[in-house]
Order: sequence, then C-alpha cells, then structure tokens
Amino acid sequence: MLRIFLVALHIATVASPSYAAGVAPIPAPLPPSGPVVILTGQALDGHGGILENARISVAGGKITSLSAASDGQVIDLSEYTVMPGWIDTHVHLSSYFNKKGRIATTDDPPMEAALGMAAAAWDTLMAGFTTVQTVGELTERPLRDAIRDRGLPGPRVLTSLDWIEVDPETSPDELQAIVRERKSQGADLVKIRASSSQRVGAKPILTEAQLRILCDEVRAVGLRPMVHAYRSQVATAARAGCHQIEHATYATEKELRVAVDAGLFISPQVGLVVQNYIENQDRYLGEGNYTVEGMQTMERDMHYDFEICKLAAHLANAKLVFSTDATAGAHGKNAEEFIGRVKYCEQSPAAALLSAHKVAAESLEMDDELGRLAPGYQADIIALDGNPLEDITAVRRVVFVMRGGIVYKWSGVR
Ligand SMILES: [Zn+2]
Repeated sequence: MLRIFLVALHIATVASPSYAAGVAPIPAPLPPSGPVVILTGQALDGHGGILENARISVAGGKITSLSAASDGQVIDLSEYTVMPGWIDTHVHLSSYFNKKGRIATTDDPPMEAALGMAAAAWDTLMAGFTTVQTVGELTERPLRDAIRDRGLPGPRVLTSLDWIEVDPETSPDELQAIVRERKSQGADLVKIRASSSQRVGAKPILTEAQLRILCDEVRAVGLRPMVHAYRSQVATAARAGCHQIEHATYATEKELRVAVDAGLFISPQVGLVVQNYIENQDRYLGEGNYTVEGMQTMERDMHYDFEICKLAAHLANAKLVFSTDATAGAHGKNAEEFIGRVKYCEQSPAAALLSAHKVAAESLEMDDELGRLAPGYQADIIALDGNPLEDITAVRRVVFVMRGGIVYKWSGVR
C-alpha cells in the first residue's frame, strides 16, 4: 500500500506543471557558525585513546581544535564522560509499532508509517547514536533525505533501501541489473540476503557464484555489499569478496576464520534484537514469518549468537563491528548491545565502544570524518553520566547529544 502511494506520488511529481522546474530545494538548516567550546574532563577519542581536560572547539559542524581558548559559547561537560557519537551499522528505522500496538504492516496509512520512522530516528538519536545504517525498505530514502536536507531530527542515515533477495535461478544479468537499480534509486550500500531468516532455518538461498556477481557489481557501482549470512554462507560471502557479514550465527570457527582472514567486518548481535522480539512477541506474532515456532527458535538459539560473537571477539584481527538489528520496540535502546557485548561476548568495555567508533567508521568507509574526536571530524559528540570503561551500564545514561555541531539533547540532570 505504502509503495503504491509512493509510486503514485512519484508519478504526480513527474507530471507536475513545468513552472516548478528548476526551483532549488530549500537549503538545509546550518549548524551554528561557532565557535562553541566544549569543556571535558575525561574523553574517549574513539580510537582507543583517553583525552584529559580537552577543550573541544566546534565550528561549522566540525571539530576544529581539542585545545581551544574558551571564548565563544561554552558547554561544560567536565562532569561526564565525553566521546564521539555512536554508529550503529544495522538498524531498521522503518520498523515501528502502529496505532494498534502491532508491528507495522503494508496496510498502515502512509502518514503513520512516515511518523513511525521519524519517531524511531528521534529515539535513536536521543540514545547517543549519531549515525546509523538502516537496511531494509525503499521508504528509508525519504527519511534519510529529510534528516539530511530538511532538518528533521535524527541520526545521520545511510540506507540500503530494499535488500536483495533472489533465488538460485536468477541469472547473472538479472543480478547485476538489481544492483544497478539500487544504485539508481539512491542506495548508500547494498544489503544481500545469502541465508533465510533464523526463524525459518537460516538456510543458504543463493550460490557462491551469484554472491560473487552481486558483490563485484556492488563494488563496481561504488557501494559496499553487506551480507545477511548464517552457517557456511559466512565463508562463502568472504570468498565472494563481500564487505560485511550480518549475524554469522552457526558458523564454525574455521568458517569464521575465512571471513576474518579476508578482512570482512563481522557483525553479530547479542544484546538487543532477540530480547526485544521475545519481550514484544505478542506485537509481532502473526505477521510475516513471526511465528511462535520462529520466536522459540530465536530464543532457543541465543546461546549460538553469543558463541559466534565470543569466537569473533577472541580471534586475532577480527573486525567486530557494532550493530543491533534494531526493529520496533528496540529503537532508542541500541546501547543495550554494548552491555551484551561485555556480558555475553566477553569483550572489554573499551573494545565494545571502539566497535561503534573507529571500527564502525571504517566499515562505512567514512573513517576520515566519523567516529573520532579530532580536528576536521564531524562534531558528533555525546556525553554519559558515568564512566563506561568501569561500568558499561553508563551507556544507558546519555545526557548530551550533538550531531554535526547541533545540540539535540542536554539534560544535565543527575
Ligand atoms: Zn536486519
């Protein structure tokens, strides 16, 4: 229904009178030209370093200095732990609970879908996540654009739009055409489903040759291929030259090692997504593949999710990147994944945080502008009440959020 509406909207736009042609879009709201000076006590630089008493100067949406003079507007965060805004490389902002309290369906009114996404974006930003990749729906493009161009509050959004799901009979030409379609639709990355859902067996659904064609084509059009893979498909995706693997559950150590050695980013989830499904299962059951059996499988196999994460965390050179797979009910709770990483995955708090800073920025190939407190980087800055290196639950207490130099949250209440 929503897609039909969007198609109709597109046709209406194309058919609008010619006097509208050539009018420039309304410019995006600008951050303060500055300078704003943020006083800090202890700050994590996003690359594993700790800064003491840095004075972060922000102007034009970017960090300009870490040792600023205190002229200009001053924000005193010296009581808190300051760090770069977090990056969640896998969320579903188009997933929301509708007015009936149920998971979104394609029968929901378009307005409800739009506002559901906007609320998900707001919740995510308020939780300290200043950049996300949302990977699943064509409708995520207008959300991305409205945040980027129109000042809608939310994290910086990258999107795959619809993910690619084909069958073993799909021809090479068809595979390449689908990738080029995503590119022309404005995708920032491409999400490929190499395995079926965990709820229906996590079985392989395309061949290595197909995966290679897809990942090669994604690279050829200048994008990054993210692959949803379980079991032996983890090694298959690595051999096929893909970029990032989601979930990876049920893979053997040998299969995981193939992906690590090939330099792929590995993205298991342990702290939020399944717990949220179970907690809210009455809101999900009966829609799509959300069955009682599927929910039971996810709960029963959570220990396999923990095992693969633990395995990856202990493999030398593994690029364990932060992601939650957040769907309705989980937006704004993304930081629970840090706690899960420490509790179930045996990562140190420092390593867990690094996975949402440096490692995540590298996975986005945006490590020259995101995930670090350093001059020239985006002024995406958050502060926590407490020290997460000593008590990881401090990630739940985000008191300050600045994205691109604009302050969206400053509660300062202890
Ligand atoms: Zn997902």
